[in-house]
Amino acid sequence: MESNQSDWRVSASCRDSDPDGLFVRGAEQNKAKTVCMGCSVRTECLAEALDHRINFGIWGGMTERERRALLRRRPEVESWSALLESAKREFSGAVDDEVARVS
Ligand code: SF4
Repeated sequence: MESNQSDWRVSASCRDSDPDGLFVRGAEQNKAKTVCMGCSVRTECLAEALDHRINFGIWGGMTERERRALLRRRPEVESWSALLESAKREFSGAVDDEVARVS
């Protein structure tokens, strides 16, 4: 069964917080980003914002300014979703390998 691409939203750390809290400006953004640090769906959230060129708010722990800079640095990326999922799988595999090595 194909999963809904927005299924990740149900696991969002910010799901029960004030939605306006992620749409602040200036220095308030650094404080707002802390909610993303332990979020289990940070990759999916960031990929959605990058793929859809969302220009406002904190998504995946990045401000709109940081996302714009990332998009400028990597104009060749067609699917951030595919790229970030692949990186996540690779990193997860590296962690699994490391755990197996030391166990
Ligand atoms: S990464 Fe941040 S903005 Fe995105 S779902 Fe998680 S807590 Fe919310």
